[in-house]
Amino acid sequence: MPRPRKRRRVGWRPLHNSFGPPGPWRQGLERIGLTVDELEALRLADLMGLSQEEAAGRMNISRATFGRIVEEARKKVAQALINGKALSIQGGNYEVAMRKFGCGGCGHSWEVPYGTPRPANCPNCGSNFIRRAEEDRGYARGGGRAGFGRNARE
Ligand SMILES: [Zn+2]
Repeated sequence: MPRPRKRRRVGWRPLHNSFGPPGPWRQGLERIGLTVDELEALRLADLMGLSQEEAAGRMNISRATFGRIVEEARKKVAQALINGKALSIQGGNYEVAMRKFGCGGCGHSWEVPYGTPRPANCPNCGSNFIRRAEEDRGYARGGGRAGFGRNARE
């Protein structure tokens, strides 16, 4: 029996899940599947420039695991770009880190995935007296205190 794999924490949601050269031949292109956790590894290492140590901490995985994921992700992206294949972003073993907000008007609290805009109004009563709740699911530890709704290091 395989060991149950720990879910990899992802602090963002992909905006698009399909990439490839445009055109009528697109349907026939070979597709390479990039998982959401692989894309997160690219985002942290290559876009944000985090060290593998930091990035592994963000994703709640070991540095060795992070190294394998990011290597695989880079290989897939390079294959797509160089060999003219399409990329499909889907699946993977992950959970989306959530930010928690509370309303000072009605006391309602709710969660929003990282990477989506800070809500302007309470979804329950419409008040704009909203604040970041103390603890976030996912990034509760190690991220430092966040200021205006975004993680301080983002
Ligand atoms: Zn409210």
